[in-house]
Amino acid sequence: MNNILRLSDIAKTYFLKNETIEVLKEVNLEVGKGRFVVIVGPSGCGKSTLLNIMGSLDRPTRGTVVLDDVDISSRDDTELSALRNKKLGFVFQFHHLLAEFTCLENIALPGLLSGEQPRRVYQRAEHLLDEFGMADKVNRLPEQLSGGEKQRVAIARALINDPLIILADEPAGNLDEGNTNKLLEVFLGLKNEGKAVILVTHSLDIAKTGTDVYNLREGRLYAM
Ligand code: ADP
Ligand code: MG
Repeated sequence: MNNILRLSDIAKTYFLKNETIEVLKEVNLEVGKGRFVVIVGPSGCGKSTLLNIMGSLDRPTRGTVVLDDVDISSRDDTELSALRNKKLGFVFQFHHLLAEFTCLENIALPGLLSGEQPRRVYQRAEHLLDEFGMADKVNRLPEQLSGGEKQRVAIARALINDPLIILADEPAGNLDEGNTNKLLEVFLGLKNEGKAVILVTHSLDIAKTGTDVYNLREGRLYAM
C-alpha cells in the first residue's frame, strides 16, 4: 500500500493533579497519497491533540505513528523537527504569520531553515503566491492582508518544502463562506496533485469536501 501515514492503536491521556483526561482511547488510521481526510467533532473532543500527534508535535501515551515508513515514536526531538520541516506542512486556525516579515519572507522561512538555496526558495515562494492569486501582494505585511489572504499565505508557507502531508487545524475557523470555499479549493487542488491533506474541524459543512470523513467521538474515529 502507498500509505504515507499510519496511526496504530493511538491513545492519549493527560495526567493532571486531580484528574486524568483520557482524550484518545484507540485511534487507527491509514492515509494514502491523494486523499483528503476530514476529521470532524465538537470542541474539546481531541481533534487538535490527534493532529499534533500525527504531526509529531506531541507524543501519544500509547501506539505508533509511522510517517513515510519512519516510526516517529523512536526518533528524538532533533530528528523529528527535521522530519517535520521536510515532510509536513501545518496550517492553523490563527495563521501564525510573523508580523514584521512580508508575505514572501514568511513563506520562504521554512525553506531557508531547510538549507535550500535562498534564490530557489524565494522563486518557489513567488510561484506559490502567484498560484494563489496574490502575486501583487508579495511585499505586504500580514496586517495588510484580509483574513482569507493571510490563510493562503499560511498555506503557501506550509507548501514551501513540498511536503507529503498537509495538516490543517480548523483552518477556516475565522473565515467567511467565500474565503472558506476558496481555501477548500486550494486543499482540493493539493489532493489532486497527490498530496495527502488531513483537516480537523467542528464544521459538518467542511467535512462534505473530504474523500475520507471521520467523526472523532469518545476517543475513537468512526467513518462517516
Ligand atoms: P479540540 O481540538 O477537539 O477542541 P483538544 O485536542 O484541544 O480538543 O482537547 C481535547 C481535550 O484535552 C480537552 O478536554 C482539553 O481540555 C484537553 N487537553 C488538551 N491539551 C491538554 C494539555 N496539554 N493538558 C491537559 N489537558 C489538555
Ligand atoms: Mg482544537
